[in-house]
Amino acid sequence: MIPQNFEYSAPTSLKEALALIAKGDAKVLAGGMSLIPLMKLRLAAPEHVVDLSRIADLKSVHEDGKGEFPGGALHLGALATHFEIESSALVRSKCPLLAEVASNIGDVQVRNVGTIGGSTAHADPAADYPAGLMALEAKVHLTTAKGERTLPIDQFIVDALSTALKPNELVREIIVPVETRGTGFSYQKLAQPASGFAVVGVAARVRKSAGKVTFVRVGVTGLAGKAFRATRVEKLLEGTSGSAADIQKAAAQAAEGVDANTDLHASADYRRQMTKVFTARALTQALSRAD
Ligand SMILES: Cc1cc2nc3c(=O)[nH]c(=O)nc-3n(C[C@H](O)[C@H](O)[C@H](O)COP(=O)(O)OP(=O)(O)OC[C@H]3O[C@@H](n4cnc5c(N)ncnc54)[C@H](O)[C@@H]3O)c2cc1C
Repeated sequence: MIPQNFEYSAPTSLKEALALIAKGDAKVLAGGMSLIPLMKLRLAAPEHVVDLSRIADLKSVHEDGKGEFPGGALHLGALATHFEIESSALVRSKCPLLAEVASNIGDVQVRNVGTIGGSTAHADPAADYPAGLMALEAKVHLTTAKGERTLPIDQFIVDALSTALKPNELVREIIVPVETRGTGFSYQKLAQPASGFAVVGVAARVRKSAGKVTFVRVGVTGLAGKAFRATRVEKLLEGTSGSAADIQKAAAQAAEGVDANTDLHASADYRRQMTKVFTARALTQALSRAD
């Protein structure tokens, strides 16, 4: 189908973009991987499309030694593509979990064009980044013509395809911690074979000291309307030796108390079962990489 007629602007500065969206009924365009299909199906019919792709300020990927996280942070501009994140030497060395998640998205064509800001703002319940961003306790930096604010990822994503973004607000950057040395990580997903989207996807970060697991973070996507941190799993594994039995016992809790999705790809029961399996796989690999 052909989208409804719309006005198109391609500003070159953030200030100009914010002024354009403040006029109302505008949709911003990043990679267009999700927005263009929605417009073609007329599920979105904005009067004005504001293309962000010429705004250099939104492309920066850099490290900041202070501020958001005690050990330093990586700031990923909203327009950083999945491929840039997957292949960046900085991200691979300072936040390898995020690079691993990005490398699992769709196919190379999608990764070349899709952006972290677009994916996070779209909040698809089967998207990959939310699992990693939950496990990383990431922050989302938002901006309007009138001011800025930063929200933790679990407050930014409200529900399926629903976020805390206000109408005139943009995602400016995603902020993740510089990983502590010795942290093991893993992203494991059961991919929907046609698109690559996660039927379920599990991201894990772990640390060990003196034979005990001292730190566990687990983020789950695909199971429910909103990605979440599997805190029951984290609590059960912390303090154990991280043996195979400990992992199985903790992973068995990954889907507990969650209202699981059913769709044409998987029933709620299958998703719950796969969440336990993929949580165990993610924890096993993360622990094997922790040193
Ligand atoms: C064939 C195919 C396979 C895919 N497979 C996967 C997969 O396996 N895993 C996965 O996670 N994703 C997958 N995707 C989705 C892909 O990752 C998209 O890149 C992503 O969902 C949207 O990013 P985008 O940059 O294309 O955003 P766009 O489509 O341009 O925008 C999406 C939405 O976000 C808004 N938006 C964009 N940027 C901003 C911003 N800076 N601030 C505020 N709002 C903004 C737009 O207005 C729009 O509402 C797939 C997509 C396709 C087409």
